[in-house]
Amino acid sequence: MSTDRRTLLRAGFGLTAAFASGSHVTASAHASDGPQFKGGLSYDEAVRAAAADDFGRIIHKEPRAVLKPAESDDIATLMRWAAERGWKVAARGQGHSTYGRSLTDGIVVDMRELNRIGEIETDRVVVEAGATWQSVLDAALARGLTAPVLTNYLGLSVGGTIAIGGIGGASSRHGMQADNVLELSVVTGDGRELTCSATENPDLFDAVRAGLGQCGIITRVSLRLVRAPERVRRYQLFYRDLASLTADQRRMLATGRFDQLQGAILPDGSGGWRYQLDGAIFYNRDAAPDESTALADLADDRGKAVITDLAYRDDALVFAKFESLLRSKGQWSIPQPWLFTFLRGSNAEQVAREIIGELGDADVGPFGRITYYPMLTDAFRAPLLRLPDENVVFPFNVVRIPSDTDATQIARMVAANRALYDRIRKAGGVLYPVSAFPMSSDDWREHFGPKWSLLRDARQRYDPHNLLTPGYNLFPGQA
Ligand SMILES: Cc1cc2nc3c(=O)[nH]c(=O)nc-3n(C[C@H](O)[C@H](O)[C@H](O)COP(=O)(O)OP(=O)(O)OC[C@H]3O[C@@H](n4cnc5c(N)ncnc54)[C@H](O)[C@@H]3O)c2cc1C
Repeated sequence: MSTDRRTLLRAGFGLTAAFASGSHVTASAHASDGPQFKGGLSYDEAVRAAAADDFGRIIHKEPRAVLKPAESDDIATLMRWAAERGWKVAARGQGHSTYGRSLTDGIVVDMRELNRIGEIETDRVVVEAGATWQSVLDAALARGLTAPVLTNYLGLSVGGTIAIGGIGGASSRHGMQADNVLELSVVTGDGRELTCSATENPDLFDAVRAGLGQCGIITRVSLRLVRAPERVRRYQLFYRDLASLTADQRRMLATGRFDQLQGAILPDGSGGWRYQLDGAIFYNRDAAPDESTALADLADDRGKAVITDLAYRDDALVFAKFESLLRSKGQWSIPQPWLFTFLRGSNAEQVAREIIGELGDADVGPFGRITYYPMLTDAFRAPLLRLPDENVVFPFNVVRIPSDTDATQIARMVAANRALYDRIRKAGGVLYPVSAFPMSSDDWREHFGPKWSLLRDARQRYDPHNLLTPGYNLFPGQA
């Protein structure tokens, strides 16, 4: 028995009692001929309506029913049943995709209650895929540990980001979250429950990490853990223009002075932009960073610098404050037509300058931003993570939080995302597949390039009935 399985058993993961509550509808008039689930299959209108939208609020698709699995074998049972009927199946983590990627008119598998966290070991933990990164962080920090890469927002599910990649401020050093997975338990589209890792079913391991949910639903994840620093000193530095920002970002990347390096271009409220570098140094109490060394040789407007010093957990949760602000302004639950891409390091500044020159405040909204910073690609390993083939690439994300949410405006932004993507692709850039615009099967084939056959062949092997995750429109006839 593997260490991970032993850990799961010790953590009581084999038991169903905790989840056999009466709150789920196990069978209904619609499904009197259907299988029994330990959790519940709900046809309730309110439950289906809640699974019909995602964070993006652009695509709407009501499922026939929603499965709340109590154990992974509920998902396996569902797959076999859905295959007999030709119903599509999609997992839903926290529903934070922006263009209907977790939606289906078949059955949605609501992963939120598969959220148990196993015993924390010195270098790993096994968690169920519906756990949020915040709950993983809290459990790990109780033992002084952390996942090496955390997303900026911790309200996302572990399965949901591993299906995409999962990028964070530490990705230059550690790759994406999908690169820091040791082993996965997966229910495949043909209803098998398989374990996969670099040595066991490696083809499935490669097809599931950043594989957009096309071959299986991840149920458990063995995650790598590292020692957590006690504190984070964060430097937000402001620049007069894109050239000086880029030059300092590149210098900081090369020197490795910051443990996290990010940056953004923000609307300044009067039709122009503010250029921001965001660097962080991790430290323990006995070794506080020396400011003069940390910020030496930088060309920022030092009078505007914002320096904070927080406990590691508080720093990791800073996005929650932004979430509260957006919620209080009614800006969280509105259509969010975001575009996420990677630019080549060799032409990032030029491409970004041209695009930013054509965008105005209204294109991103007062709370929106364009994420822009360099990243090293050495640590990125999962084969389906697509990046420009250079040592340095720049995440370039147009985070549109529009003040005008009229349907015509949103449609215009979705069309603009498509046009920007075409332009970025022509310049050697690559999509980060959480973006809001339609992609055809041909687009996906081009996106995956030499790795397309890996995904296509795995799909034929593990989801031969073409059931899984239709929201991407990856394979013909899928939607
Ligand atoms: C506010 C906000 C901040 C964000 N910040 C970051 C960030 O810092 N870094 C980053 O990389 N991304 C970020 N994202 C994007 C985010 O990572 C993706 O949208 C992610 O997919 C959302 O996770 P989720 O749990 O909500 O997944 P969902 O939206 O529920 O699902 C995403 C996709 O994964 C599939 N899926 C979900 N669970 C599973 C599973 N267990 N097995 C197989 N497939 C599954 C779904 O079917 C769907 O196709 C952010 C998004 C938002 C809204």
